[in-house]
Amino acid sequence: MADLQGKIVIITGGSKGLGASLARRFAQGGAQVVAAARSTDALERLAGEFSGHIFPFTCDLTQADQVKSLIDTTVNQFGKLDILVNNAGVGRFGSIPELSEEDWDLMMNVNLKGPFLTSKFAIPHLIPSKGHIVNVSSVAGIEAFPGGGGYCASKFGLMALADVLTKELKKHEVKVNTICPGSIQTEFSENPKSYALTAEQVTEAIWHIVTAPEGVIYNQVIMRPQVPPQMQK
Ligand code: NAP
Repeated sequence: MADLQGKIVIITGGSKGLGASLARRFAQGGAQVVAAARSTDALERLAGEFSGHIFPFTCDLTQADQVKSLIDTTVNQFGKLDILVNNAGVGRFGSIPELSEEDWDLMMNVNLKGPFLTSKFAIPHLIPSKGHIVNVSSVAGIEAFPGGGGYCASKFGLMALADVLTKELKKHEVKVNTICPGSIQTEFSENPKSYALTAEQVTEAIWHIVTAPEGVIYNQVIMRPQVPPQMQK
């Protein structure tokens, strides 16, 4: 159970949904988790469940100074950084004429600029630990769909960023992992599909990614719910 004993992990979007599930699982598995998001109260409630194992950090990932402070504070407090999970994300959906400029900018800033900033400031610390960067993309990062103009563009962009990071960090033995889940039952969607994955199922996949045997890298993982035949299109 304690495969992440002594590991220092930052999880963005740790206040709810998949990020909170990851924080719980990693803390149970022995890691010291820094959970970052904007909702201080939710982060503090989560930290209270795992006293001393989850450290709440209020941070807007679209703001470079706050992201730098997240990384610096983590390393100053815990001495190193082993795993960065770029999980925070937002979705706003509508056809291109319907999609507002504000929603476009929001998705680009949270889903793409956020992982750029966290990676930029974390890489100098992940090189000495030969750590991991885990990007939570989406099936929407490999398959576009009508109404997903901004969301798909941000997640396709994240796939490209992850590919660049893979190639830039290979020589340093920093592992770059990207998971592309289908629908997950979180507050992300107002009406999650009945067959959607649970946050715990996606968490388990990410757990396997970061505890892979020595010499193994799960570079890209596509994970989908099994759709009952009568609900298939
Ligand atoms: P969620 O329940 O809505 O959680 C999103 C998280 O992102 C929250 O913790 C939120 O925290 C954080 N966040 C949003 N804006 C932020 C900002 N500016 N700065 C810092 N944190 C911010 O969504 P989820 O389903 O867990 O999504 C997790 C990831 O999975 C996302 O990248 C999403 O795109 C991806 N994904 C989701 C689904 C799905 O169907 N749910 C499917 C595939 C992929 P605060 O509001 O407290 O800041």
